[in-house]
Amino acid sequence: MPEKCLFCRIVSGDIPADIVSEDEEAIVFRDINPQAPSHLLVIPRRHVGSLDDADEATDLGSLMRLAAEVARDEGIAASGYRVVVNTNENGGQTVHHLHLHILGGRLMTWPPG
Ligand code: AMP
Ligand code: ZN
Repeated sequence: MPEKCLFCRIVSGDIPADIVSEDEEAIVFRDINPQAPSHLLVIPRRHVGSLDDADEATDLGSLMRLAAEVARDEGIAASGYRVVVNTNENGGQTVHHLHLHILGGRLMTWPPG
């Protein structure tokens, strides 16, 4: 685990987070700066820098299924939500530990900024 990775520090409990769900492979917590009424982050426990770094050991399917499950539990599935994976610089990634944003509770616009 990279020593200074913010999300690894949340996984290890060094930094507190509002965790809403967890399993063996992943945790889900509320974004500290929410961009929608519901804004959750799904991250693998194991450090993976970005989607671009995800290898066969990274179970992306399970992360997506967990995102859908959490969206249902959050009550935003029927009205709709968006899953976003910002990747590297042009993608707007600021925390370099793979994460899926789940945004819902309001109408999303397209194209994104
Ligand atoms: P990204 O810009 O796609 O890399 O997303 C990083 C996200 O992490 C942003 O939406 C931040 O608001 C969020 N974030 C940063 N620090 C924390 C924290 N300590 N707890 C929860 N979310 C955080
Ligand atoms: Zn990390």
